[in-house]
Amino acid sequence: MSSRPIGLPTLDNFALRALPDGPLDADQLRVRNLWLSVDPYMRGRMNDAKSYAASFQIDQPMTGGAIGEVLESTMDGFVPGDLILHMGGWRDGGIIGLDMMPNKLPAELLAGGMSPQTFLHNMGLTGGTAWIGLLRVAAAKPGDTVFVSAAAGAVGSAVVQIAKAREMTVIGSAGGAQKCAWVSNLGADAVIDYKAGPVLPQLAAALEKLGKPGIDVYFDNVGGEHLDAAFAVANDFARFAICGMIDVYNDGKPQEMKYIIRSIPARIRMEGFIYTDQFIECMEEFYADMGGLIASGAVTIRETVHDGIEAAPEAFLGLFSGANIGKMLVRL
Ligand code: NDP
Repeated sequence: MSSRPIGLPTLDNFALRALPDGPLDADQLRVRNLWLSVDPYMRGRMNDAKSYAASFQIDQPMTGGAIGEVLESTMDGFVPGDLILHMGGWRDGGIIGLDMMPNKLPAELLAGGMSPQTFLHNMGLTGGTAWIGLLRVAAAKPGDTVFVSAAAGAVGSAVVQIAKAREMTVIGSAGGAQKCAWVSNLGADAVIDYKAGPVLPQLAAALEKLGKPGIDVYFDNVGGEHLDAAFAVANDFARFAICGMIDVYNDGKPQEMKYIIRSIPARIRMEGFIYTDQFIECMEEFYADMGGLIASGAVTIRETVHDGIEAAPEAFLGLFSGANIGKMLVRL
């Protein structure tokens, strides 16, 4: 990161730099990265503001999820050739230590045909966020009516598919006809194109067509107009899993909330959550469940891929213009 963005980041906020290499110290790995993840939360880390994750520093490499191959190791349990998931992304390789949380990819799943980069999405951050948010935070159950925004993105598309696999009724929202058609193909019972018109009338019409009185669960990826529309149509005792609010990441403008008052008579429970708080505790259950859903075809994998380290900023910026369907990735 060469400068801090004001509002929407631009390519000028990034620079490609070569950093010095050297011999390994104890407990280090020399890694060649194969795949990098770009994620909306990284936008918050570009600000000089206190949050749950530390700010990125100007003229320092950003970090993020990455899949790499170990070239050299002084760390117990790792040998050259290992494929690892770690946090030393936004670079094509280098030396990483324990602070980058290296973990070997499960050999049995790779041998079964799972591609390594799946651990950056459906079997990792975005799939885990969808699974935890839907099933644990919102406690969604068969028969529930679920509304999910950014439904053609990495987290949202996983929410749609997990919910359908558990016999819920799903309404997804996405921007544009192509994305909406894909969300429908994933099994959503109704899809809203929020770029074609206001959210609330479309959401109310979808519920009416489905013969549902309202929503039991809202999985929020967007905030703003979507969140307010969800308040307007929530059933009594609805649960809102607040995962992200990408609509405000770049402008930080307060949103008008006309219908939030319904949270009182409808006794809505709203809970923000961070994936890392719960992931370790439910990792085995998640891997078994999500692995099974992927193997059975109930959860399909879709990626939007940019090639080369120089394309990483463009891939990242694309998250805010909706340039991705499924998970946005950089392949090295
Ligand atoms: P996505 O793959 O969903 O990519 C972002 C998508 O958001 C875009 O494709 C775009 O789709 C949509 N979008 C962008 N700007 C707007 C806007 N102003 N209004 C409505 N939609 C918009 O990203 P992820 O799946 O990685 O993340 C989804 C959400 O989940 C984000 O808010 C992210 O911060 C959050 N998250 C939270 C985590 C947690 O632990 N709480 C962990 C991981 C992610 P479209 O074309 O449909 O507009």
